[in-house]
Amino acid sequence: VAKRLEKFQTTIFTQMSLLAIKHEALNLGQGFPNFDGPEFVKEAAIQAIRDGKNQYARGNGVADLNIAIADRFKKDTGLVVDPEKEVTVTTGCTEAIAATIIGLINPGDEVILFAPFYDSYEATLSMAGANIKSITLRPPDFAVPIEELKSTISKNTRAILINTPHNPSGKMFTREELNCIASLCIENDVLVFTDEVYEKLAFDMEHISMATLPGMFERTVTMNSLGKTFSLTGWKIGWTIAPPHLTWGVRQAHSYLTFSTSHPMQWAAAVALRAPDSYYVELKKDYLAKKAILVEGLKEVGFKVFPSSGTYFVVVDHTPFGLENDVAFCEYLVKEVGVVAIPTSVFYLNPEDGKNLVRFTFCKDEQTIRSAIERMKQRL
Ligand code: GLN
Repeated sequence: VAKRLEKFQTTIFTQMSLLAIKHEALNLGQGFPNFDGPEFVKEAAIQAIRDGKNQYARGNGVADLNIAIADRFKKDTGLVVDPEKEVTVTTGCTEAIAATIIGLINPGDEVILFAPFYDSYEATLSMAGANIKSITLRPPDFAVPIEELKSTISKNTRAILINTPHNPSGKMFTREELNCIASLCIENDVLVFTDEVYEKLAFDMEHISMATLPGMFERTVTMNSLGKTFSLTGWKIGWTIAPPHLTWGVRQAHSYLTFSTSHPMQWAAAVALRAPDSYYVELKKDYLAKKAILVEGLKEVGFKVFPSSGTYFVVVDHTPFGLENDVAFCEYLVKEVGVVAIPTSVFYLNPEDGKNLVRFTFCKDEQTIRSAIERMKQRL
């Protein structure tokens, strides 16, 4: 393997899902729903295949999907964007992240991440030769340490990558935090790459897109996807929204990374994004019920549970159970208890920072969540 990737192992999600199968454990690890997406969206995909939408799609996205994305963004944020010049369809948000980083970051540019961070950020930044700076968000509230951010920004800082609602912590960036980050970015001429794939799973607070803050649209790449909102993580439909001068970089990278994204699925994605508001209301209601079962259950089991305002994840402190660190705890949990969780130390530049924390997901049917809680009550 090339040197730039030597330090990365098989992704933790793959590792833990394999262990789940091996030990026949209940999987509250990898964030994929164990239920299917809506029928009307699946039907639209089948129809598109029958209609012959089976050759390469237009590189930057099927025009109708670009329009549906722009329309949805306007509904959500009030911002009017040009579907032809400012929206790019990618193969999941993971490709949106890669195309953004590879298209806009030069080797040696500094990029600031907030740890814990989703694993692909660090791997992709390494592929691009970026100089990664990480600022640790700490429980219980995972607040942004603004002074530390100020002292980390330098004349070499090219971008700050944010993720709100935040995987794994469930933290949502507050308006105050976003305002502080925005004014530092404007002052220091820094870009923001913002991963908002969990925006429709905002439970306790209003989701705020960085692009809506004054002066920020022109320096922000907003990245999103269909997977979480429509319980279709395997479809890998994502996108970026950015002003033309940034979209140009994203598209150059996208053209040579994947060239274009699955054609029939894009037609279905456009149908999905035109779902009535009631779809989003139901989705949230269902997830709130699941979240309550998991959070109450984890507390009864004896974990210290940190508040999660958004996403389908909850982070807990496992130390009441006396295992050495997060990895040892998760190994014990899968082998002896039959439940899978995700150790968080892989989401930090310094793994020590995550050694007390593990992540559980509630994107599973209620029975699976209840059974996992039962097992933990009996066997932990
Ligand atoms: N985003 C999902 C999670 O955090 C999984 C992504 C993946 O498996 N690479 O669990």
